[in-house]
Order: sequence, then C-alpha cells, then structure tokens
Amino acid sequence: MKYRGWLLPPALRDFHEGRIWLKEHSPFTKDDIKRIIECNYFHIIEGIQKEPHLKCNRCHNQDPQQFTTFDCSKCEQSCIYCRHCLHMGRVSSCTELLIWIGPRAFRIKKHPLEWAGQFTVLQQQAANEILESIKAKRSHLLAAVCGAGKTELLFPSVHYALEQGLRVCIATPRTDVVLELFPRFQKAFPRTIIHALYGGAPKQEGYAQLILATTHQLYRFEQAFDVMIVDEADAFPYTFDETLQRAVKKAKKKDAPVVFVTATPSQKLLYQYQNNSYSFIPKRYHNYPLPVPRFRSLWRYEKYFKRGKIPPKLKQWTEERLVQKEPFLIFFPKVELMKIAAPLFQALDASITTVHAEDPERKEKVLKLRNEEVRGLLTTTILERGITIKNVQVAVVGAESTIFNSSALIQIAGRVGRNAEFAEGDIVFFHHGITVEMDDARTKILTYNMKGFPQ
Ligand SMILES: [Zn+2]
Ligand SMILES: [Zn+2]
Repeated sequence: MKYRGWLLPPALRDFHEGRIWLKEHSPFTKDDIKRIIECNYFHIIEGIQKEPHLKCNRCHNQDPQQFTTFDCSKCEQSCIYCRHCLHMGRVSSCTELLIWIGPRAFRIKKHPLEWAGQFTVLQQQAANEILESIKAKRSHLLAAVCGAGKTELLFPSVHYALEQGLRVCIATPRTDVVLELFPRFQKAFPRTIIHALYGGAPKQEGYAQLILATTHQLYRFEQAFDVMIVDEADAFPYTFDETLQRAVKKAKKKDAPVVFVTATPSQKLLYQYQNNSYSFIPKRYHNYPLPVPRFRSLWRYEKYFKRGKIPPKLKQWTEERLVQKEPFLIFFPKVELMKIAAPLFQALDASITTVHAEDPERKEKVLKLRNEEVRGLLTTTILERGITIKNVQVAVVGAESTIFNSSALIQIAGRVGRNAEFAEGDIVFFHHGITVEMDDARTKILTYNMKGFPQ
C-alpha cells in the first residue's frame, strides 16, 4: 500500500456523492482529491463533450448558440465553454468533472417524524395516494388549491422514503420556497440532516439524505436521488425552461419517481397524470372556501403614479387597510412603476416598503410584515407564492399586464385567508381592462369552490 495511514475523509465522500462537480472547485485539498482519483473513487469526465455533437456534461446544454470559443490560459489552447451554466463556475473543454463512484455515504434509517398535526379527510386521502405511488416507484401529480396544506401531506411519503434509506430531493424553481420549506422540514424531521441549496446558500455539513434545492442547483447533481419531489411545478422559470426539466431528470436516478406538486397544474401535467396517478384537493385545510377576486377598474393608473398621485380607488383601499390595521400586499407589474409609487404610499404610512427579486432584504421585510413592524408591502410577482401572512389583504395593480397570467393571479389570490382565524379577506384585481387570464383565474377559483363545497 502506497498510502498507508491515509483514510478516506468521510466529509469528502458525503459531499461528492451524487454530485457532478468541477475538479478545481472541490472544497477539499488537492492532495485528498489526488489520492481519491488514485483509488478510482472518482469517475472523471470532460466538461464539454464534442462528439457526436457539442454538449455540456454538467447542465446537458446542447444548444450550439450557448457555447463560446475562447483562448484558454489554463490549457493554452482554443477552448469551448458553456454559457448556459456559467454562473455556477465555468465549464470548458479542459475542465474535468468529478462523479463519485466510491463507497456510499452512511445512510441512517431512523428518521423520527415529529409532526403533531391532523390531516383532513381529503389531505389524508392524497397523502395515502402519494405514498402508494412512491412505494410503486410511480410518478404522481398532486394538485391542491393554495392553502390546502400540501407541504404537510408530503411528510408521510418523505418519512417512508428516508426510513427505507433512500435519498430524497424536494426541488422548486423558487429560492423563496426553499427558504420557506427548510425550517418546516427541519422541525418535522429533527434528527435528519437536511441541506437547503440555492444560489449563495451557506456551506452545510454532513451527508444530507434530504435535500431542498432550487431546480437550478440540480445541474450539479447526477443520478443522485431515489425520490424527486418538484414543488410549485408550474412556477416560472421551470415550465418555460426545458433545461430545468432536464436537470430534474438528470439529478434523479433513472427509475426514481417524481411527485409534482402545484396549485395550478399546467395542461401538460394534467394530461400526463390526470388519468393514472393523480390527487386533487379542491379545498383548504381549514375548510373555508377560497376568497374570490373582485375586479375594479383603475384606468390610466400609470399616469396617476407618474404625476405623483395614487389613483383614488387604490388610495381609498390602502387607507381602509391602514385604518382597519390589516397587513397588506400590493402587487405591481413592473419594478420601475413600484419604485415611482413607493414614496406616495410612504406618505400615507412611513413603514410601507417595497420588495423585488434582487432585494437582499426581502426575507427580513416579509418577516417585518408578519410581525406587524411594517403595515404593508409593495411587491412584484416575487411574493406570488410560498408566503403566508395572517389576515393579509391583497391588491393587484395592473392585473391586465401580461406578467399576471392566470396561474400567477390564482397564486396571488391564494395568499388571502390562509389562517383559520382569518379565513376571509379582500383580493382585488385593479385593472386597465379585463383580460382572458383574469377571467380564467376567477373562473378556476369559483370551480374549485364548487368542487370543494358541492351544493
Ligand atoms: Zn453547462
Ligand atoms: Zn482550456
């Protein structure tokens, strides 16, 4: 034995198992990596594959437009790199990607589930159906209205899988959803190592048998998961970005089932699953109907804002919320318009503030609204899902804008009345003309209520 006394660092195995990782980005020492390569614990592949056609071996991008040739200082040759996954560190022709094929991480089979909640009849039924599908290694679609308690009814399935020694991933297109789910799963599975992966996530120790990740982060995994759950499966950009759908496929093992979870399933998902492996919950967990949006015209609202005025109907709505001491969200179609409007609202109440996608403090601001330190938030669609605030009242400004498609509007309406104590609330679509999408959102909500509460 050449390397007598050298032992495989468990942390290295725990990290690399299931991942496809740039050699020069490994968080472990060059020496450790070298020894492991000598042990043949890594399968090493080239970053960019040229035959039979160009393909990035990390993100599986094959679009010729997404590759660039450059003079590489590292290999001193002409190299090609993948632009598609560039933000995760450059993968080029001379890049080596590491795939772990060494001994498997130690899997714990004891994962106590500490959740004392009670399922409604509908939740219990759906939870059983999903569990049956997972046991049969069959993919499944769970469609359930906003506030139906989708997360909790995944607990039995996740619990079962973990205790089988399986590795589970819950992926979602949105960082906010990862941040919202993480503490809830930690609380339910206090003895399970869970990692939350998103852009800028802190380093996390140990072998995570349960991973919560943005779909983007899945580019960095390969055949890693025995069970894949895609939450908010219809959210932007997942449905529009085929590479993210491929990432989900690549990150899971070939025969691993996928559970799609959403309040607003696409026609495509419904078509695929409705007749074989499908659960539907038309009702909220607290057994009150969904608040139905009302439409109110707000003609030429942009002009009002640009002239330094809040349109009267919207002003009146906001003042009512302030008088009633109700927390509120006002959705805007564009960041620029929201920024013009912000000081006008702050003149009504100085605590009113804004959040948008690039806002580093958006988590804190939502928390402030929840803790009543802030009276209301102006926001873009970034808060359309994943957030729950007791007694929140919601207005959409410019509901006719193309960014507010039917799913987005249903999700936004779904923020209202989630708490059993405050099961009602106002959801108003302020508009400059009613769109098909607005009508569709309203009709669907009415249909869910009809199915949930048959006369
Ligand atoms: Zn790539
Ligand atoms: Zn190179």
